[in-house]
Amino acid sequence: LVRAEGVRKSYGLVEVLKGIDLEVRKGEVFCLVGPSGSGKSTFLRCINHLEKINAGRLWVDGELVGYRQKGDKLYELKDKEVALQRRDIGMVFQRFNLFPHMTALENVIEAPVQVKGQAKAAAKERGMQLLERVGLADKAKNYPSQLSGGQQQRVAIARALAMEPKLMLFDEPTSALDPELVGDVLDVMRQLAQDGMTMIVVTHEMGFAREVGDALVFMDGGVVVESGHPREVLTNPQHERTRAFLSRVL
Ligand code: ATP
Ligand code: MG
Repeated sequence: LVRAEGVRKSYGLVEVLKGIDLEVRKGEVFCLVGPSGSGKSTFLRCINHLEKINAGRLWVDGELVGYRQKGDKLYELKDKEVALQRRDIGMVFQRFNLFPHMTALENVIEAPVQVKGQAKAAAKERGMQLLERVGLADKAKNYPSQLSGGQQQRVAIARALAMEPKLMLFDEPTSALDPELVGDVLDVMRQLAQDGMTMIVVTHEMGFAREVGDALVFMDGGVVVESGHPREVLTNPQHERTRAFLSRVL
């Protein structure tokens, strides 16, 4: 579903992604791990074209991200076309950036109503189903400030799902949470994985990666150092840098 070939990204003179090659299959839970500053968030942002890549190619569901190819020339997509591509990709960040002046349900139905033009009644019904799915039907009328961090994060997941994405990107969704709230969020993600959602998950939760992940990539310094099945990489890392990283997070 996602393919990266030689993806490079620089900020000014600093190259943050130095040629990333990887492939994420449909229905797969793809875990991306690595030290701070290794380029994980940057890579996620490239997938939905929040960042423009400087070289290489990136496809989501067979479509080139941000560009159209004619012959061997690339043409940049218009903002509207980029927005259409982005609609199919849900993103959940470390900081639950819900709209503070909207209730949980209003947060969930905002995009379907505003972007997709769904009727409000239908969006509300679907929104309630989604809140139920993340275990928060009883909090539909709460504002974000009246929810715990874990609950806010689950609302953020429901909000992303409301757009019926074909791909979900998670950028350290639990790392800002108190330890006792992490489990509920991981449970929702585990359920989502069981339902067949394709997910790229940047995480330090190695237990989750081992149990739920289908593939794991270890990134360092803007390159893929090592990849494989999570159980293999986690129990038998081949590179010193992977070993050093794992000994710090496990
Ligand atoms: P973390 O685990 O801390 O979230 P990360 O692997 O997600 O790290 P990135 O956020 O992708 O790392 O950052 C990679 C590098 O790119 C860092 O050195 C960072 O300072 C730099 N960087 C990221 N965004 C920008 C930007 N908008 N402008 C300049 N430099 C940036
Ligand atoms: Mg990051």
